[in-house]
Amino acid sequence: MIPKQSYGRQGPVVKEKDHAIVEGIDLPGHWNRMFDTRVLTDYDTGTLEEVTSLPGGESLGWCYQCGKCVGVCPVDIVGDYGPRKIHRDVLRGGSLLEDPNLWLCTTCQNCFRVCPKEVDMLQIMPAAREAAINAGKAIPPELQKVFEATDRYGNPLGENPRKRADWVKGAGVPVPVMAQLKRPVDVLWYVGSYPSYHPRGIDAARALARIFHALEVDFAILGVEEREDGDSIRLAGEKGLAEKLAEANVKTFAKYRFNRLVVFGPHEYNAF
Ligand code: SF4
Ligand code: SF4
Repeated sequence: MIPKQSYGRQGPVVKEKDHAIVEGIDLPGHWNRMFDTRVLTDYDTGTLEEVTSLPGGESLGWCYQCGKCVGVCPVDIVGDYGPRKIHRDVLRGGSLLEDPNLWLCTTCQNCFRVCPKEVDMLQIMPAAREAAINAGKAIPPELQKVFEATDRYGNPLGENPRKRADWVKGAGVPVPVMAQLKRPVDVLWYVGSYPSYHPRGIDAARALARIFHALEVDFAILGVEEREDGDSIRLAGEKGLAEKLAEANVKTFAKYRFNRLVVFGPHEYNAF
């Protein structure tokens, strides 16, 4: 038996056989370490399985800690984050469903772009967040406020739904509303919550209305009938609310006749 070697203060326990016969060749113990079971680290795999067992959460288990995602994660730039850290934390027995880091990922998918193992946070995070919400885990108060405002008022800003089309007053051009127009249009423009309420979004909405006029587009909006598209709500884990919003909007779309639906941003595009 070769004596155990000392590796400073972290010396591992190395199991070795005296020798092994492989295809007639007698190998001394020094060469056959892999013929005996070695436990390098005794992991509790339960917290990883808590995520990988979720539909959409599987790919977290594919991470092999290469670190390529670290430099591209926008959250890592302002803190210590990224799929690599999430994976490492659950490997160490931390529950992602109870970790404040669960709510930090912006689901930008930048990490997926560089990941050799296709670990997909755009799937993992909504699935884990939904599981956390369903299990009654703590969620950030500001996010809870957004969920409640969206459910109650149909927009995440908590603004009055009756004022959803107030922005049209300063557009400088007529902005027809479907319910008042009472005829089919070529373009139904889904404006969205932020362009309807947020000052910077309103500027963009008014600019697009003027562009439609300059191009002589036959368009109209839903006005007060429009609801939040719900894509960000889905990514934040409130799938039930996202589905409720989608159903309400689709029901409203079905009331009118139009050739094309035009949306302002990627979230609306994803939702519809
Ligand atoms: S790039 Fe992919 S495999 Fe590499 S550490 Fe990040 S998530 Fe893991
Ligand atoms: S998807 Fe999440 S973890 Fe990946 S780069 Fe974007 S913020 Fe970072």
